[in-house]
Amino acid sequence: MPQELNFKQELTGCFGYPVSENPTQAMVEPAFRSMGLDWRYLTLEVRPENLGAAVAGARAFGFRGFNCTIPHKVAVIQFLDGLGDSASLMGAVNCVVNRNGKFIGENTDGKGFVSSFRKLADPSGKSLVLLGAGGAARAIGVEMALAGCTQITLVNRDEKRGRELETLFRGRLRDAVKTQGRDLAITYVPWQGNFRVPDGTNILVNATSIGLYPDVDARVPVAMESLSVETIVADVIPNPPTTRLIHEARAKGCRVIDGLSMLVGQGVIGVEYWTGKTPDPEIMRNALEQIFA
Ligand code: NDP
Repeated sequence: MPQELNFKQELTGCFGYPVSENPTQAMVEPAFRSMGLDWRYLTLEVRPENLGAAVAGARAFGFRGFNCTIPHKVAVIQFLDGLGDSASLMGAVNCVVNRNGKFIGENTDGKGFVSSFRKLADPSGKSLVLLGAGGAARAIGVEMALAGCTQITLVNRDEKRGRELETLFRGRLRDAVKTQGRDLAITYVPWQGNFRVPDGTNILVNATSIGLYPDVDARVPVAMESLSVETIVADVIPNPPTTRLIHEARAKGCRVIDGLSMLVGQGVIGVEYWTGKTPDPEIMRNALEQIFA
């Protein structure tokens, strides 16, 4: 039988401003190719004032979905048809999925972190120290709590931002955890000087932007001598993958999760949402490693 000719590609992409340094296309398109899908992932510069028109355009072009990055993660919600549970809890969307013509907002940042964490340990019953209180910290805190963490210590320099996240975690997140028959303990610590990691901490996460290229020598203010070798240390910074924190924690003997793992993890979930199939994470990670090498 001759193969039916089809020159129409399915569309996905990323809306952001600025967006030119976002490497997701380089990670996702090789995954599509390896899955035998003639799909495209477009890196699209969308100014804030054009976001509504861009979403309408994505509907008109029949996009299968798209990622949202800075500054659109909250603003996009008003243009969507609904939200998944995590996105609703976080009040932020990084992945829009076309489900039977409806644009549904999801948040895959924290889910990507959880999937990389599960390769090392089970989150159930664990205590988590989160450095930072921005979007990345919010996403990781929400998903790790829903995945079974029972204690979160929030550490942030700006007290107002720290307290806001504490309120969300103590309120809506704790309520969601309680519906699963568990409880969640939350502590906020203002970040002054070198933070001493409390005894018994299972996971320490740098969810700040400290160490992001080109500021690669910047040090996350943590008293490394207070860190136990039993603590798993994670960093959200994808570029460079081996941050100073990851390097020092590894040298100490701790197990580590780098920011590339989280980036790949959320990318895998996004591709699953859009295509219904699971891509090979190795292909996606290799593509990014070539860029950040
Ligand atoms: P936000 O701007 O929302 O938050 C930044 C956080 O970093 C704030 O809590 C801020 O503290 C803290 N911070 C920044 N500089 C310092 C400093 N010198 N000392 C102490 N705290 C500091 O950013 P996001 O949460 O959206 O992103 C944070 C990082 O996570 C980015 O670098 C981003 O690249 C990365 N990221 C990685 C992902 C991945 O898949 N690997 C996914 C999403 C994000 P304060 O409130 O005191 O200002």
